Amino acid sequence: MRGNRSCLLRDRTLMFGAIHSEIGEQYDKELISRCNERTFVRLYIVRESRNVETHMKRREVFAGSTAAVLAGMTPWPLNAQTNEHPNLLGYLRTNWSRDLFSFGTYSYLARGSGRRHHRQLAKPIANKVYLAGEASNPNRNSSVHAALESGRLVAATLLKGSAEKIGIIGAGIAGLSAAQILDAAGRDVDVIEARDRIGGRVNTDTSLGFAADLGATWLHGSDGNPLTEVTDQVGMRKAYSDEFWVVRANGRALNDDEVPGWVEEVSNYDNRAGASREAMNEWGYIFTSDYSGEEVLFPDGYGQIFDAFQGGYTLSLNSVVTSIDYAGQKVVVSTEENSQTFDAVIVTVPLGVLKSGTISFAPALPEAYQTAIGVLGYGTLDKIYLQFEDVFWDKEPHNIITPFNGFDRGYFNNWVNLYPTMGKPVLLCFNGGPAALALSSEPDAVVINNARKTILTAYGLPI
Ligand SMILES: Cc1cc2nc3c(=O)[nH]c(=O)nc-3n(C[C@H](O)[C@H](O)[C@H](O)COP(=O)(O)OP(=O)(O)OC[C@H]3O[C@@H](n4cnc5c(N)ncnc54)[C@H](O)[C@@H]3O)c2cc1C
Repeated sequence: MRGNRSCLLRDRTLMFGAIHSEIGEQYDKELISRCNERTFVRLYIVRESRNVETHMKRREVFAGSTAAVLAGMTPWPLNAQTNEHPNLLGYLRTNWSRDLFSFGTYSYLARGSGRRHHRQLAKPIANKVYLAGEASNPNRNSSVHAALESGRLVAATLLKGSAEKIGIIGAGIAGLSAAQILDAAGRDVDVIEARDRIGGRVNTDTSLGFAADLGATWLHGSDGNPLTEVTDQVGMRKAYSDEFWVVRANGRALNDDEVPGWVEEVSNYDNRAGASREAMNEWGYIFTSDYSGEEVLFPDGYGQIFDAFQGGYTLSLNSVVTSIDYAGQKVVVSTEENSQTFDAVIVTVPLGVLKSGTISFAPALPEAYQTAIGVLGYGTLDKIYLQFEDVFWDKEPHNIITPFNGFDRGYFNNWVNLYPTMGKPVLLCFNGGPAALALSSEPDAVVINNARKTILTAYGLPI
């Protein structure tokens, strides 16, 4: 949930007054003026609650499990029914920080890091190892379009050279977009993927009878965004998010002056970057240039996008790469089962995987890359889908904020109402940054109950 994140503060004049003196040479004037044109995120508070339906049925069917989520973000079968709670038909819960092929959600500019570190990752290593993916885009990061651009950029670089046999590690957006281009140009391409599916951090789950995106949800900023063309080409049905919010606590909508100041901070940092404000290089975060325009979501799921990246390349699933040896003329990529030799490799594994050290490089990556991998941040944003029988919340606002829910700040405060865009009685709750990390070790029973309790009490319903 990270729309319009480059301009987050309420007072535009104040922010731009400060920015010119603070950022010095780090950000050029063009970047500042581009950012200046972007929409600011604001809280639009809908004061009156509407369409509150209180005829709840006392039935709950839990669907989901932490263990299954860890194994691949899929739910339990619907097998754990109780009659204690009203109206919850099913849930899905992600736990990205414990995902062994991501270890988090996406990169962010941590304190002490800057855009130069992303640019460093985008540089070829010994002309045969190329890092790609959202964190290796030299211009913008943390998004599906950043991954797409990075995949295209690295493919264009390789097409200028003579590498014939190319290995691509990771079948997410960056890997598959590069694979398709290189294959179409006649190169011999092998994609090696650890999971039993393609898509990486784009993962649509349909087990609850609707398209639940467990990874990316939005196309952030449709104007000039290369994803706009790709999603049009695939014919993906689109819906548009607005920025209207209702703030609810203890059965009523709060007035503007009752909303605590930290609500905006949690929305704009923890639940957008996946990290707390204190952990971030705030100026770098705010002033990274990115696309503007509509925030688009896909009622039939983001996963359809992979239709655009089909090709004649070889794809090996369930193949966990453990080492990359680029000491010789060729590059040797080893999994637990076998080794393959390539003229060049594109490594699209997430920054979290590079940080974890689960892939060894021989020789070790040059120091500048190791520094960049170390100082850049890798955040966590987790999602909880709650599927109810009926809509009992405000039908119109796309966003619901629930402070004063009996938990610490940052816990279960942000909700997306999927009723306006999907026509389903489904809510999506976000926990990001420190809250997401703390909740990652809690069982589903605790996490789902607390989410459910928050939204029911916000609407004055019995729990
Ligand atoms: C919860 C969440 C919400 C998000 N929301 C949005 C959003 O709304 N809009 C947006 O634009 N972006 C969003 N993003 C970010 C977006 O999903 C990513 O930036 C993008 O999908 C990254 O693509 P990628 O190709 O760089 O990496 P990935 O999709 O992660 O692909 C890398 C691949 O490498 C594989 N891999 C890892 N380790 C190994 C190994 N050892 N061997 C072989 N393969 C390996 C992984 O399994 C994965 O398939 C979100 C992400 C998450 C997790």
